[in-house]
Amino acid sequence: MSNVINILGCAGSIDKNSHTTCIRINDSVLIDAGTGLLSLTTDELKKIDSLFLTHSHIDHILALPLMADSVGNQRENPIEVMGCSETLSSLQKHIFNGLIWPDFSILPNKEKPYIKFKEILSNHMINKGGVSILPFYVNHTVKCFGYKISSNNHSIIFSADTGPSKNLIEMINKTNNLKAIIIDVSFTDEKSKIAVASKHFHPSNFLAELKKIKNKQQIYITHAKPGNEKTILNEINSMQNKHNIEALKQGQTITF
Ligand SMILES: [Zn+2]
Ligand SMILES: [Zn+2]
Repeated sequence: MSNVINILGCAGSIDKNSHTTCIRINDSVLIDAGTGLLSLTTDELKKIDSLFLTHSHIDHILALPLMADSVGNQRENPIEVMGCSETLSSLQKHIFNGLIWPDFSILPNKEKPYIKFKEILSNHMINKGGVSILPFYVNHTVKCFGYKISSNNHSIIFSADTGPSKNLIEMINKTNNLKAIIIDVSFTDEKSKIAVASKHFHPSNFLAELKKIKNKQQIYITHAKPGNEKTILNEINSMQNKHNIEALKQGQTITF
């Protein structure tokens, strides 16, 4: 049986047509809960059992509190919210704190809450919804996991938010059956100072990093700030490289 990744959102911020990061794997697994999640129906939201968070930034978590409220009382089991300890403690302290939003990890009651936090560890594989998911740290302004998603046949590597990352390159080079790599290139070269300060890629340092990848790969760039997508792709394609590079698109599916 093949597995399907559905790109619900892949923008680095919002406008009328741009949703932030949310990737659905088959029916029941999500990576991040950006505004892309708002495109799912109630029936589709009810099926989400597991949410893997990359990090605590709001463009990646903002639909989680509302999803918990919307479908928490229509589910048998809590939604499992997974991430590194820093991500989960930020959510507990700053979002599900009874001030910004109710603490749905103990509400409506401790026996049957709407969500359940579960810390996951770097380089420890987890099997959910028909795929294996391996977290690894990347290089962002807060602790941030990239994820390798594997079926029996292929793997897809999702970089999450990151600037140049040794771990990311190592993960790519040691994975033999790669179908695609999804990498954050948020800014144009003109905004390289902001990119470096906020630990995202811009085309020049992205291309320099790609030279460290041994084999030719299918690479999708993601997390562009709305309005900059074409310039970013043009800047990348104007520089020599051996890979096949396209922009990830909202609504795109990848079968693997
Ligand atoms: Zn971020
Ligand atoms: Zn982001």
